[in-house]
Amino acid sequence: MQIVNVTRESGVPLIGCIAFGVIDRGTNLLQVRPTSVCNLKCVFCSTRANDLDFHPCGFVVEREYLVSAVKKIAEFKGADIEANMDSVGEVMTYPEIVELIRDIKNLPAVKRVSMQSNGCLITKQKLDGLVDAGLDHLNLSINSLDKEKARFLAGVPAYDVNKIKKLAEYASGKLSLLIAPVWMPGVNDEDIIDIIHFAKSIGARLGIQKYEVYRYSRKIKGGKNITWWKFYNQLKKWEKEFDVKLVLRASDMGIHKAKRLPEPFKKKDVVHVDVKLPGWIKGQMIGVAKDRCISINNCHAKIGDRIKVRILETKNNLFVAETL
Ligand code: SF4
Repeated sequence: MQIVNVTRESGVPLIGCIAFGVIDRGTNLLQVRPTSVCNLKCVFCSTRANDLDFHPCGFVVEREYLVSAVKKIAEFKGADIEANMDSVGEVMTYPEIVELIRDIKNLPAVKRVSMQSNGCLITKQKLDGLVDAGLDHLNLSINSLDKEKARFLAGVPAYDVNKIKKLAEYASGKLSLLIAPVWMPGVNDEDIIDIIHFAKSIGARLGIQKYEVYRYSRKIKGGKNITWWKFYNQLKKWEKEFDVKLVLRASDMGIHKAKRLPEPFKKKDVVHVDVKLPGWIKGQMIGVAKDRCISINNCHAKIGDRIKVRILETKNNLFVAETL
Protein backbone atom coordinates (compact mmCIF):
# COMPACT_ATOMS: atom_id res chain seq x y z
CA MET A 1 0.00 0.00 0.00
CA GLN A 2 1.24 3.44 -0.89
CA ILE A 3 1.25 5.68 2.21
CA VAL A 4 0.53 9.34 1.60
CA ASN A 5 1.71 11.73 4.31
CA VAL A 6 -0.64 14.66 4.67
CA THR A 7 1.46 17.53 6.00
CA ARG A 8 0.89 21.24 6.56
CA GLU A 9 3.43 21.85 3.79
CA SER A 10 1.38 19.77 1.32
CA GLY A 11 -1.35 22.43 1.39
CA VAL A 12 -4.01 19.70 1.65
CA PRO A 13 -6.90 20.83 3.90
CA LEU A 14 -8.03 18.52 6.71
CA ILE A 15 -11.73 18.87 5.95
CA GLY A 16 -13.54 17.25 3.05
CA CYS A 17 -12.13 13.72 2.71
CA ILE A 18 -13.68 10.83 4.66
CA ALA A 19 -10.35 9.01 4.94
CA PHE A 20 -8.40 11.58 7.00
CA GLY A 21 -8.65 14.86 8.90
CA VAL A 22 -11.65 16.11 10.86
CA ILE A 23 -15.36 15.40 10.33
CA ASP A 24 -18.04 17.69 11.78
CA ARG A 25 -21.55 16.25 11.68
CA GLY A 26 -23.16 19.26 13.37
CA THR A 27 -22.79 18.04 16.96
CA ASN A 28 -20.31 18.62 19.78
CA LEU A 29 -18.52 15.40 18.70
CA LEU A 30 -15.69 15.85 16.22
CA GLN A 31 -14.35 12.77 14.46
CA VAL A 32 -10.56 13.05 14.31
CA ARG A 33 -9.02 10.76 11.69
CA PRO A 34 -5.22 10.63 11.86
CA THR A 35 -4.79 7.59 9.59
CA SER A 36 -6.71 5.33 7.23
CA VAL A 37 -4.45 2.32 7.81
CA CYS A 38 -5.87 -0.84 9.44
CA ASN A 39 -4.23 -3.95 10.94
CA LEU A 40 -7.19 -6.29 10.31
CA LYS A 41 -9.20 -7.47 7.32
CA CYS A 42 -12.62 -8.11 8.85
CA VAL A 43 -14.85 -10.20 6.61
CA PHE A 44 -17.76 -7.77 7.10
CA CYS A 45 -15.77 -4.49 6.91
CA SER A 46 -17.94 -1.62 5.70
CA THR A 47 -14.93 0.39 4.52
CA ARG A 48 -13.25 -2.59 2.82
CA ALA A 49 -10.02 -1.91 4.68
CA ASN A 50 -6.88 -3.64 3.38
CA ASP A 51 -8.30 -4.35 -0.05
CA LEU A 52 -5.46 -2.98 -2.13
CA ASP A 53 -7.40 -3.27 -5.37
CA PHE A 54 -9.99 -0.95 -3.89
CA HIS A 55 -7.84 1.29 -1.65
CA PRO A 56 -4.41 1.51 -3.32
CA CYS A 57 -3.24 4.14 -0.83
CA GLY A 58 -3.49 4.98 2.83
CA PHE A 59 -3.16 8.36 4.53
CA VAL A 60 -1.25 9.45 7.62
CA VAL A 61 -1.67 13.03 8.86
CA GLU A 62 1.14 15.07 10.41
CA ARG A 63 0.37 15.38 14.11
CA GLU A 64 0.97 19.08 14.62
CA TYR A 65 -1.10 19.90 11.53
CA LEU A 66 -4.01 17.76 12.73
CA VAL A 67 -3.92 19.25 16.23
CA SER A 68 -4.03 22.78 14.82
CA ALA A 69 -7.04 21.84 12.65
CA VAL A 70 -8.89 20.36 15.65
CA LYS A 71 -8.09 23.50 17.66
CA LYS A 72 -9.43 25.82 14.98
CA ILE A 73 -12.63 23.82 14.40
CA ALA A 74 -13.30 23.20 18.12
CA GLU A 75 -12.95 26.93 18.85
CA PHE A 76 -15.34 27.76 16.00
CA LYS A 77 -17.92 25.29 17.32
CA GLY A 78 -17.67 26.41 20.94
CA ALA A 79 -16.83 24.66 24.19
CA ASP A 80 -17.91 21.17 25.30
CA ILE A 81 -16.26 19.40 22.37
CA GLU A 82 -15.63 15.66 22.42
CA ALA A 83 -12.73 14.71 20.15
CA ASN A 84 -13.32 11.15 19.00
CA MET A 85 -10.21 9.47 17.58
CA ASP A 86 -11.52 7.27 14.82
CA SER A 87 -10.68 5.96 11.39
CA VAL A 88 -11.82 4.18 8.29
CA GLY A 89 -9.12 1.75 9.52
CA GLU A 90 -7.60 1.37 13.00
CA VAL A 91 -6.57 4.47 14.91
CA MET A 92 -3.93 2.63 16.96
CA THR A 93 -1.80 2.16 13.82
CA TYR A 94 -1.02 5.90 14.08
CA PRO A 95 2.56 6.00 15.36
CA GLU A 96 2.03 9.08 17.58
CA ILE A 97 -1.42 8.29 18.98
CA VAL A 98 -0.44 8.90 22.62
CA GLU A 99 1.13 12.26 21.80
CA LEU A 100 -1.84 13.18 19.59
CA ILE A 101 -4.29 12.50 22.42
CA ARG A 102 -2.18 14.51 24.85
CA ASP A 103 -2.03 17.48 22.47
CA ILE A 104 -5.77 17.39 21.77
CA LYS A 105 -6.75 16.95 25.41
CA ASN A 106 -4.74 20.09 26.21
CA LEU A 107 -6.85 22.22 23.85
CA PRO A 108 -9.11 24.48 25.96
CA ALA A 109 -12.21 23.87 23.78
CA VAL A 110 -11.90 20.07 24.07
CA LYS A 111 -13.66 18.65 27.10
CA ARG A 112 -13.37 14.93 26.47
CA VAL A 113 -11.28 12.59 24.30
CA SER A 114 -12.61 9.21 23.18
CA MET A 115 -11.36 6.56 20.79
CA GLN A 116 -12.62 3.67 18.65
CA SER A 117 -10.34 0.63 18.48
CA ASN A 118 -10.25 -3.08 17.73
CA GLY A 119 -7.82 -3.34 20.66
CA CYS A 120 -5.19 -5.54 18.99
CA LEU A 121 -2.43 -2.96 19.31
CA ILE A 122 -3.23 -1.92 22.89
CA THR A 123 -1.14 -3.54 25.61
CA LYS A 124 -1.80 -2.79 29.28
CA GLN A 125 1.19 -0.48 29.25
CA LYS A 126 -0.08 1.29 26.14
CA LEU A 127 -3.50 1.70 27.74
CA ASP A 128 -1.89 3.31 30.79
CA GLY A 129 -0.10 5.69 28.41
CA LEU A 130 -3.35 6.58 26.63
CA VAL A 131 -5.15 7.22 29.93
CA ASP A 132 -2.23 9.29 31.21
CA ALA A 133 -2.35 11.33 27.98
CA GLY A 134 -6.02 12.14 28.66
CA LEU A 135 -8.11 9.43 27.00
CA ASP A 136 -11.48 9.42 28.79
CA HIS A 137 -13.45 6.79 26.93
CA LEU A 138 -12.77 3.74 24.74
CA ASN A 139 -15.17 2.06 22.31
CA LEU A 140 -13.75 -1.42 21.89
CA SER A 141 -14.98 -3.67 19.10
CA ILE A 142 -15.42 -7.38 19.91
CA ASN A 143 -17.66 -9.43 17.60
CA SER A 144 -17.40 -12.91 19.12
CA LEU A 145 -15.79 -14.39 22.23
CA ASP A 146 -15.19 -17.70 20.47
CA LYS A 147 -11.52 -17.88 19.54
CA GLU A 148 -11.92 -19.41 16.08
CA LYS A 149 -14.99 -17.46 15.09
CA ALA A 150 -13.47 -14.17 16.25
CA ARG A 151 -10.37 -14.95 14.20
CA PHE A 152 -12.49 -15.74 11.14
CA LEU A 153 -14.45 -12.49 11.52
CA ALA A 154 -11.25 -10.43 11.92
CA GLY A 155 -9.87 -11.93 8.71
CA VAL A 156 -6.30 -12.39 10.01
CA PRO A 157 -4.81 -15.55 11.58
CA ALA A 158 -3.02 -13.64 14.36
CA TYR A 159 -6.22 -12.20 15.89
CA ASP A 160 -6.57 -13.34 19.50
CA VAL A 161 -9.85 -12.46 21.20
CA ASN A 162 -8.59 -13.70 24.58
CA LYS A 163 -6.03 -10.93 24.52
CA ILE A 164 -8.79 -8.40 23.77
CA LYS A 165 -10.90 -9.79 26.63
CA LYS A 166 -7.99 -9.33 29.05
CA LEU A 167 -7.52 -5.80 27.76
CA ALA A 168 -11.23 -5.07 28.29
CA GLU A 169 -11.07 -6.36 31.88
CA TYR A 170 -8.05 -4.15 32.56
CA ALA A 171 -9.45 -1.11 30.74
CA SER A 172 -12.80 -1.18 32.56
CA GLY A 173 -11.03 -0.20 35.77
CA LYS A 174 -9.08 2.60 34.13
CA LEU A 175 -11.51 4.56 31.94
CA SER A 176 -15.08 4.60 30.65
CA LEU A 177 -15.39 1.50 28.46
CA LEU A 178 -18.02 0.59 25.90
CA ILE A 179 -17.94 -2.78 24.14
CA ALA A 180 -19.15 -2.23 20.59
CA PRO A 181 -19.88 -5.46 18.67
CA VAL A 182 -21.31 -5.46 15.18
CA TRP A 183 -24.40 -7.68 15.28
CA MET A 184 -24.62 -9.61 12.01
CA PRO A 185 -27.99 -11.39 12.13
CA GLY A 186 -27.56 -15.01 11.08
CA VAL A 187 -23.83 -14.92 11.82
CA ASN A 188 -23.12 -13.93 15.44
CA ASP A 189 -26.51 -13.91 17.24
CA GLU A 190 -25.40 -16.20 20.09
CA ASP A 191 -22.06 -14.43 20.28
CA ILE A 192 -23.83 -11.13 21.00
CA ILE A 193 -25.50 -12.74 24.02
CA ASP A 194 -22.07 -13.95 25.27
CA ILE A 195 -20.73 -10.43 24.79
CA ILE A 196 -23.64 -8.93 26.76
CA HIS A 197 -22.83 -11.25 29.70
CA PHE A 198 -19.13 -10.46 29.43
CA ALA A 199 -19.65 -6.68 29.33
CA LYS A 200 -21.96 -6.87 32.35
CA SER A 201 -19.43 -8.97 34.26
CA ILE A 202 -16.68 -6.36 33.86
CA GLY A 203 -18.91 -3.29 34.34
CA ALA A 204 -18.60 -2.05 30.72
CA ARG A 205 -21.42 -0.44 28.77
CA LEU A 206 -22.62 -1.89 25.46
CA GLY A 207 -23.05 -0.20 22.11
CA ILE A 208 -24.30 -2.89 19.71
CA GLN A 209 -23.78 -1.76 16.10
CA LYS A 210 -26.04 -2.64 13.20
CA TYR A 211 -24.47 -4.60 10.35
CA GLU A 212 -24.90 -2.44 7.29
CA VAL A 213 -24.24 -3.40 3.70
CA TYR A 214 -23.03 -0.59 1.49
CA ARG A 215 -22.21 -0.73 -2.16
CA TYR A 216 -18.52 -1.23 -1.46
CA SER A 217 -18.71 -3.17 1.86
CA ARG A 218 -17.05 -6.54 2.29
CA LYS A 219 -20.11 -8.77 2.61
CA ILE A 220 -20.26 -11.75 4.95
CA LYS A 221 -21.93 -14.92 3.73
CA GLY A 222 -25.22 -15.48 5.55
CA GLY A 223 -25.26 -12.00 7.16
CA LYS A 224 -28.70 -10.36 6.97
CA ASN A 225 -29.07 -6.63 6.48
CA ILE A 226 -32.19 -6.16 8.65
CA THR A 227 -34.29 -2.99 8.98
CA TRP A 228 -33.64 -0.45 11.72
CA TRP A 229 -37.07 -1.34 13.18
CA LYS A 230 -36.08 -5.00 13.53
CA PHE A 231 -32.70 -4.02 14.93
CA TYR A 232 -34.12 -1.84 17.71
CA ASN A 233 -36.88 -4.34 18.41
CA GLN A 234 -34.28 -7.05 19.11
CA LEU A 235 -32.22 -4.67 21.26
CA LYS A 236 -35.33 -3.94 23.35
CA LYS A 237 -35.96 -7.69 23.77
CA TRP A 238 -32.38 -8.25 24.92
CA GLU A 239 -32.66 -5.25 27.25
CA LYS A 240 -35.58 -6.92 29.04
CA GLU A 241 -34.09 -10.40 28.98
CA PHE A 242 -30.68 -9.41 30.33
CA ASP A 243 -31.58 -6.27 32.30
CA VAL A 244 -29.09 -4.10 30.47
CA LYS A 245 -29.25 -0.83 28.54
CA LEU A 246 -28.72 -1.38 24.82
CA VAL A 247 -30.75 1.28 23.01
CA LEU A 248 -28.51 4.32 23.15
CA ARG A 249 -29.49 7.84 22.20
CA ALA A 250 -27.00 10.56 21.32
CA SER A 251 -27.80 12.22 24.66
CA ASP A 252 -26.80 9.01 26.52
CA MET A 253 -23.33 9.57 25.07
CA GLY A 254 -23.24 13.30 25.94
CA ILE A 255 -23.74 14.30 22.29
CA HIS A 256 -25.87 17.31 21.35
CA LYS A 257 -26.27 19.64 18.40
CA ALA A 258 -23.59 22.30 17.91
CA LYS A 259 -22.75 24.96 15.32
CA ARG A 260 -21.74 23.44 11.95
CA LEU A 261 -18.77 24.42 9.84
CA PRO A 262 -19.99 26.19 6.69
CA GLU A 263 -20.21 24.08 3.53
CA PRO A 264 -18.65 26.12 0.71
CA PHE A 265 -20.19 24.05 -2.12
CA LYS A 266 -23.65 22.85 -3.07
CA LYS A 267 -24.54 19.81 -5.17
CA LYS A 268 -24.10 20.49 -8.90
CA ASP A 269 -21.70 23.42 -8.31
CA VAL A 270 -18.95 23.57 -10.93
CA VAL A 271 -15.61 24.19 -9.25
CA HIS A 272 -11.97 24.65 -10.35
CA VAL A 273 -9.74 22.48 -8.20
CA ASP A 274 -6.01 21.92 -7.83
CA VAL A 275 -5.26 18.20 -7.93
CA LYS A 276 -3.05 17.41 -4.93
CA LEU A 277 -3.19 13.71 -4.01
CA PRO A 278 -4.33 10.28 -5.15
CA GLY A 279 -7.72 9.43 -3.68
CA TRP A 280 -8.69 6.81 -1.11
CA ILE A 281 -10.78 4.81 -3.57
CA LYS A 282 -9.22 3.44 -6.76
CA GLY A 283 -9.65 5.84 -9.66
CA GLN A 284 -10.17 8.87 -7.43
CA MET A 285 -7.89 11.88 -7.12
CA ILE A 286 -8.15 14.53 -4.41
CA GLY A 287 -8.56 18.13 -5.52
CA VAL A 288 -8.48 21.22 -3.32
CA ALA A 289 -10.62 24.37 -3.44
CA LYS A 290 -11.90 26.82 -0.79
CA ASP A 291 -9.97 25.08 2.00
CA ARG A 292 -11.70 21.75 1.39
CA CYS A 293 -10.63 18.40 -0.09
CA ILE A 294 -12.82 17.06 -2.88
CA SER A 295 -12.61 13.38 -3.91
CA ILE A 296 -12.98 13.22 -7.69
CA ASN A 297 -14.29 9.94 -9.13
CA ASN A 298 -12.76 8.37 -12.27
CA CYS A 299 -10.18 11.12 -12.48
CA HIS A 300 -7.23 10.82 -14.89
CA ALA A 301 -5.67 14.18 -14.00
CA LYS A 302 -2.17 14.34 -12.56
CA ILE A 303 -0.96 15.93 -9.36
CA GLY A 304 -0.40 19.64 -10.07
CA ASP A 305 -3.18 19.87 -12.71
CA ARG A 306 -5.98 22.42 -12.34
CA ILE A 307 -9.29 20.94 -13.53
CA LYS A 308 -13.01 21.63 -13.56
CA VAL A 309 -15.32 19.30 -11.59
CA ARG A 310 -19.01 19.05 -10.71
CA ILE A 311 -19.92 18.46 -7.06
CA LEU A 312 -21.99 15.30 -6.47
CA GLU A 313 -22.02 14.98 -2.67
CA THR A 314 -21.70 17.56 0.09
CA LYS A 315 -23.05 15.98 3.28
CA ASN A 316 -21.20 17.00 6.46
CA ASN A 317 -18.53 18.81 4.44
CA LEU A 318 -17.46 15.54 2.78
CA PHE A 319 -17.18 16.32 -0.90
CA VAL A 320 -17.30 13.96 -3.90
CA ALA A 321 -17.22 15.22 -7.48
CA GLU A 322 -16.99 14.11 -11.10
CA THR A 323 -14.72 15.49 -13.79
CA LEU A 324 -16.11 17.68 -16.56
S1 SF4 B 1 -14.02 -3.45 10.49
FE1 SF4 B 1 -12.59 -1.97 11.38
S2 SF4 B 1 -10.92 -3.23 12.22
FE2 SF4 B 1 -12.06 -4.52 10.80
S3 SF4 B 1 -10.95 -4.31 8.83
FE3 SF4 B 1 -12.63 -2.79 8.85
S4 SF4 B 1 -11.69 -0.93 9.61
FE4 SF4 B 1 -10.30 -2.62 10.14
